Amino acid sequence: MPTSTKTIEKEVKKLRAEIVRHEELYYVHDRPEISDVEYDALVERLRRLEEEHPELQTPDSPTLRVGGRPAAGFEEYVHRRPVLSLDNSYNIEDLRAFDERCRKLADGRAFEYVAELKIDGLSISLHYESGVLVRGVTRGDGRVGEDVTQSVRTIRSVPLRLKDGKEAGAGIEVRGEAYLSRKAFERINAEREEAEETRFANPRNAAAGTIRQLDPKIVSRRRLDMFAYDVLRGERKPFASHREALDWLTRAGLQVNEHRALCASIDEVIAFCNRMEAERDNLEYEIDGVVVKVNSTALQDEFGATTKAPRWAIAYKYPARQATTQVESIVVQVGRTGALTPVANLAPVQLAGTTVARATLHNEDEIKRLGVRLGDWVNIEKSGEIIPKVLGVVESRRTGAEKPFKFPKTCPVCGGVVSRPEGEVVSRCVAADCTAQLKGRLLHYASRRAMRIEGLGEALAEQFVQKKMVRDVADLYALKTEDVAALERMAEKSAANLAAQIEASKTRDLPHLVYGLGLRHVGERTAAILARNFGSLARLAAASVEEIDAIHEIGLTVAQSVRDWFDDEGNRDLCERLRAAGVRTEMSGDVGASRDGAFAGKQFVLTGKLETMTRDEARALIESRGGRVTSTVSKKTDYVVAGEDAGSKLDKAQTLGVNVIDEAALKGMLG
Ligand code: AMP
Repeated sequence: MPTSTKTIEKEVKKLRAEIVRHEELYYVHDRPEISDVEYDALVERLRRLEEEHPELQTPDSPTLRVGGRPAAGFEEYVHRRPVLSLDNSYNIEDLRAFDERCRKLADGRAFEYVAELKIDGLSISLHYESGVLVRGVTRGDGRVGEDVTQSVRTIRSVPLRLKDGKEAGAGIEVRGEAYLSRKAFERINAEREEAEETRFANPRNAAAGTIRQLDPKIVSRRRLDMFAYDVLRGERKPFASHREALDWLTRAGLQVNEHRALCASIDEVIAFCNRMEAERDNLEYEIDGVVVKVNSTALQDEFGATTKAPRWAIAYKYPARQATTQVESIVVQVGRTGALTPVANLAPVQLAGTTVARATLHNEDEIKRLGVRLGDWVNIEKSGEIIPKVLGVVESRRTGAEKPFKFPKTCPVCGGVVSRPEGEVVSRCVAADCTAQLKGRLLHYASRRAMRIEGLGEALAEQFVQKKMVRDVADLYALKTEDVAALERMAEKSAANLAAQIEASKTRDLPHLVYGLGLRHVGERTAAILARNFGSLARLAAASVEEIDAIHEIGLTVAQSVRDWFDDEGNRDLCERLRAAGVRTEMSGDVGASRDGAFAGKQFVLTGKLETMTRDEARALIESRGGRVTSTVSKKTDYVVAGEDAGSKLDKAQTLGVNVIDEAALKGMLG
């Protein structure tokens, strides 16, 4: 083995250990030491090394978490031991009846219960061979599930290798619940809205849809999570009690939910249920109840199971969070992309501790599906969404006075043409000068995650638009303080504050600007990736669809959308005016600092084996001088650095007439 390969092998091992350590800190101990971006960078570096040295790939490498190729479908897998359902109980009497049955079966012997949260996700079983994760299977119908190994590997709280080697042995199966945190759920829905896809109804649906998503890269980005609650060796439970099983799962590196109680009596179980119901809204994930299990494995075996569910466990379900109220009106809002969203104004009603007065109706089809009319009584439910949704109409309460709702054929704000392309659910105002869209764009640009212009809210944006003081976001930088001060509900001081905020926004970093411009399909995360990869708005504007698509994590839809946006003359003009107004259009930090470096704006492609440095070292050196390293050779490539055994990239460079240099030449340029 040449020394360089050995050095790489060492680096790969070190990187893996680092990544695993950070995953544990983040997902198991909730005590991260590095940011998401730094974590992503570590994984990306490892991924690149493994791509260049496939012989160093291992079945437990953390890069498997970022996803390989999309699968064609899922294979069926017969569970070694069926995944049973649970009997349900809806009130305290049911719980006491369960306790009676258990005590009868125990026939005078003392026993304990373990009470734990019933996580609202989907049940998953993980198979470990010699401590290494080899398979992940959904519950399916309980007997046959689907092999979703690719998806399961992306879950950071699922260890790819168990820590407790001694117990890990052969044929370990871990069962648990895969779920999405409320935060991940909200982020996914925000992104789906941006991408003009329908929102997921609740975190459980989103988790189920995610596990069965064929493209593991998408799964990886969604950040599924998992709580483990059972372990089997072969078909048997390897521990004397459920509590010991949970303790071992924790030691093995799995995530076990912290809220659980060993209870000596059903009264203690009931106290736990009540305590957790009060805590429910403070949890970072959704639960639908508590699962109560007999602690002793021997007793569990003795009690056995019906064909459907074990006799030693029961689910105590919390009441659904629904309410009934009346639809007072339906308004149609127009967003920054022109999308028309109907919202029902409701007679205020109490639901899960808050007063609810609005519910989203999503789109025209949803109104039709529900058949909702003005004045109807409707059932609403709160399920993870911030705004509750309408479940259905209470037809028995109709009086005949209800009026059907007509979805507008023109924009309710500007009167412009509304279009709804075939096959799409969203209707859109397509008027270029729609004031609602402009207002939406201003508010998005000024939002906290974009350019953070805090004084710019609803009322002010409305006035800017109505008075034609602002026609696009660049006009914000030309506003005169005295004109702003003259507006309704404004004074000199607030106008001056706003001016300061607008001024400060000029130094926001490039990812915020790219996000703030509101390109279709470009959410916060995508904007950050684009900014980091291209380093300036000008370079992003000049990039071809091919180059954007070549970025790991960015797909063709985004690439095309970015290209389309910059192909629009008005948008290009907007960018130029932002730059002229002094808005930062280059990445700060490492890239920005080397803006004037020797390689500023130069694109490199590395190919073949280098003698004195790894490709990553070469990349770091090039980037430190302001250059950029891409993976595909195109006409935009300035230099191809060819090492030993360079392959097709070298051929392509020669065909395209791109400069080819060797390592020595590169070092010369680096100085
Ligand atoms: P059900 O789907 O109502 O039959 O309830 C059984 C399901 O509850 C199991 O298949 C699991 O997916 C889920 N579940 C959630 N949390 C737990 C837990 N702590 N213990 C057992 N099952 C759980």
